[in-house]
Amino acid sequence: MHAGWSPILSLSGGALEHGTSSESKVNMMQPDHQRFESAEMKSMETVACNNCGCPDTLLLHKFRLEPESQDCFVVRCSRCGLVYLNPRPSRDRIGIYYPPNYQANMLNLLGKGKTNVIARLGFGMVRRRRTPSKKTGRLLDVGCSNGAYLAAMREKGWDVEGVELDGDAVEYARNSRSLKVTQGYVEEALGQLAGSNFDVVTMWHVLEHVFDPAAALKQIHRVLKPGGAVMLEVPNYASPLVSLFKRYWFPMDIPRHLYQFTPASIKTMLTRAGFKSIQVKGVPSPEAIVWSAAAARQASPIDFNNGDILRLNPLGMSLAFPVSWVMAQFVMSDHMAAVAVRGD
Ligand SMILES: [Zn+2]
Repeated sequence: MHAGWSPILSLSGGALEHGTSSESKVNMMQPDHQRFESAEMKSMETVACNNCGCPDTLLLHKFRLEPESQDCFVVRCSRCGLVYLNPRPSRDRIGIYYPPNYQANMLNLLGKGKTNVIARLGFGMVRRRRTPSKKTGRLLDVGCSNGAYLAAMREKGWDVEGVELDGDAVEYARNSRSLKVTQGYVEEALGQLAGSNFDVVTMWHVLEHVFDPAAALKQIHRVLKPGGAVMLEVPNYASPLVSLFKRYWFPMDIPRHLYQFTPASIKTMLTRAGFKSIQVKGVPSPEAIVWSAAAARQASPIDFNNGDILRLNPLGMSLAFPVSWVMAQFVMSDHMAAVAVRGD
């Protein structure tokens, strides 16, 4: 599966590394049939590796996108090993895969978790992990949603601003929290900001959603002051649970996650963007174990439109937490954190 492999032509001959042969169906949340009847609109796009430009790939997982009536594939770059979705919905189309309450359900879940002892312990770890070692300065949160993190950092004395695509989230951050937020796709919105302007740029579970992560990382390098640090978290495709749960691994999240990083590939991309002193650590993520098991049990990916399924079962979390914590010590947990410095 090397030279010039085209995923579209390899439907019957693709080697499925993890031995998966059945398809997962990913349903559209809000049907808009009229838009899909226009044959002129390009709904899917085929891309080369975002890290090295190589078009040759190895097929890992196959998914069926129902509204597009097309297959898409999670593939690994034959040259550099970056894992990505190809073909993938175009920018014009990706919005239909984000249900209107995608962010609201996650935020609601965080609210519910405050009554659960294990969840409270976990949120405390998240807060400590996401607090920069520097005490104050200028901080930019990329993909800041409704600004909850920015507001908390402002309380600690940071001069904060954000970047966010979702219009409702931006409105809330601006009007209810009086935050400065630039709206738009990450790559372009960052391009509107002045260079050498921030001490810290944070990006929590955003890079895997970005169409051009290499460009986004270069822009982050540009807006950081020399010596400034980027702090980010992404799913960790090197987790052994990928092989266990395969297409039902919760952080696969097709087609919203366009990229899957490993400790090696995130280091490579940060290095190519100009960063130095790169450190990658495992992040305990028991919820990824609980929800992957739930998805495998129901033989269907988690439906983000259904808030009921996104529950943090106390027993499941209690069992999964120590397992995930041990995995994190070996950077094999389902999420990982990276910190890197702009050297010049
Ligand atoms: Zn590559």
